[in-house]
Amino acid sequence: MKIIMLGAPGAGKGTQAKMIAEKCGIPHISTGDIFRANIKNGTELGAKAKGYMDQGLLVPDELVCDLVVDRIQQADCEKGYILDGFPRTIPQAKALEEALNAIGQKLDFALDIEVSDEHIINRMSGRRACVGCGATYHVIFNPTKVEGVCDICGDTLILRDDDKPETVEKRLEVYHSQTKPLIDFYAAENILAEIDGTQSMEKVFEDIMKILGV
Ligand code: ADP
Ligand code: ADP
Ligand code: ZN
Repeated sequence: MKIIMLGAPGAGKGTQAKMIAEKCGIPHISTGDIFRANIKNGTELGAKAKGYMDQGLLVPDELVCDLVVDRIQQADCEKGYILDGFPRTIPQAKALEEALNAIGQKLDFALDIEVSDEHIINRMSGRRACVGCGATYHVIFNPTKVEGVCDICGDTLILRDDDKPETVEKRLEVYHSQTKPLIDFYAAENILAEIDGTQSMEKVFEDIMKILGV
């Protein structure tokens, strides 16, 4: 099963993608996680991406597309995958389509998790990310057992720099102008499914499982 996740920053794409990946036994591929890992490891790609990310802007398409096209051709993607945070622009969607056509594959589902901008601002200020393993929590909706400590690896939790309100507003603007057009793009391909992302995490997951027929 080949799935892409659509939705505003903070809509719950990562949260749901991890659960789907586990349930379906397919890899979760998050471009945001890939960039953050590159920044942490001090790579050239990380250095190029950081400036854009800190400003709430998208990293240029040419830094993203080849990376994803390579990743989805690795052995663990044979049974499928979930792309989380890619594509984010029409040129990225077209690059993905072209690459898939070339290897005789096609996407099965584009899941759009819908959450209004007002909700997003609240959600993001409560998001906490683990500096060790990248796991994501929420101070109210998905708290850790011990405050500030990752349940999975025991490392420290932080508020991501780009989750501060000023940057979130910029990211929402970028979402509306550059990413939202993908909803019509995938509706035209007949693979779009829309999910109400303001429900509880469990209910959102239940709705997704029905759509996937799992
Ligand atoms: P969120 O999950 O909150 O939407 P991500 O972790 O997906 O955030 O992305 C964080 C940042 O990484 C984005 O604001 C952007 O700068 C960069 N990024 C991630 N994926 C892409 C992509 N496909 N194209 C361009 N930039 C990206
Ligand atoms: P995205 O990957 O789309 O940026 P995340 O999955 O990281 O979004 O979720 C953003 C924040 O909202 C996180 O702190 C997460 O724990 C929380 N969250 C995710 N889904 C829900 C939900 N259905 N209800 C409340 N909070 C949620
Ligand atoms: Zn951790």
